[in-house]
Amino acid sequence: MHLIAGLHHVTAIASNPQRNLDFYTEVLGLRFVKKTVNFDDPGTYHFYFGDDTGAPGTILTFFPWPHAKKGTVGVGEVLATAFSIPTGSFAYWTGRLRSLNLTYNESTRFGAQVIGLADPDGMRLELIEHAETHAGSAPRYSDVPPASAIQGFYGVTLLERRVEPTAALLGVMKLKELAHDGDYVRFAPAGDALGRYVDVLVNPKAQPGRQGAGSVHHIAFRNTDDADQLAWHATLAAIVGVTPVQERTYFRSIYFREPGGVLFEMATNTPGFLIDEPIESLGEALRIPEWYEPQRHIIEAQLLPLTLHKFSPTLQEVEQ
Ligand code: ZN
Repeated sequence: MHLIAGLHHVTAIASNPQRNLDFYTEVLGLRFVKKTVNFDDPGTYHFYFGDDTGAPGTILTFFPWPHAKKGTVGVGEVLATAFSIPTGSFAYWTGRLRSLNLTYNESTRFGAQVIGLADPDGMRLELIEHAETHAGSAPRYSDVPPASAIQGFYGVTLLERRVEPTAALLGVMKLKELAHDGDYVRFAPAGDALGRYVDVLVNPKAQPGRQGAGSVHHIAFRNTDDADQLAWHATLAAIVGVTPVQERTYFRSIYFREPGGVLFEMATNTPGFLIDEPIESLGEALRIPEWYEPQRHIIEAQLLPLTLHKFSPTLQEVEQ
């Protein structure tokens, strides 16, 4: 059984699909690596954003439900999702957000400066400088210069009334308590992989929220491969309810709920997003599972049309 390296992906709920697509590609400069449907509800999209290849540790996914009501974050939920930005890029990002007329705030946590902002559905995001040894590759269709591009996840913050039950499960997953900062407790696995920080903000009076647009649905940690996942399944099954392995086309998954209420997943690093599309055109065609192909025209008719504004590197040179 291998150590959990860090986050594999974070999955959240959005409302307007086009607005979600535009924000993550044109504001944050992520690559749209897969346009597919919710396997449980194929009349709705499932979007994947990430680095140039959608490497594990860089993937933010959304269920954009056009009629989703705005959620409120509460206890047992993910409070904020943090991206890792290159050291020295803080001023680039604050300048970029200002030039786009987006509001943000600056704070300090565990000695690091944090840019806090919200996506169009109110999902709380953070940008934190960090020297990464395994940074993702910069997206090829982005106007964010590669030297400032988001490198992948930094980590997540969970809101909990008590830290101990969550700490116990994280301990089984080999995420150790690293430090305290005010009401925050930080956990991380050994190593220096992307997306390794899990912060718990402890607030005994935190109230339940309501899942909706802007809410994180679940977070997934990385498993090296199928054998590694099965070994983790056996370990987890002894202490918590865990689902059988689910086929997700781009990875395989098991799900379990941590004692504080956050839905956790473990997802395999393989096979990845290049399994059904060439790297040059990732995210451009609607990919649906084979079993839905006979109904493709019906599914497509239910989905809102989308426009992916691909930033051309040639255009970037001209504009600079
Ligand atoms: Zn997932």
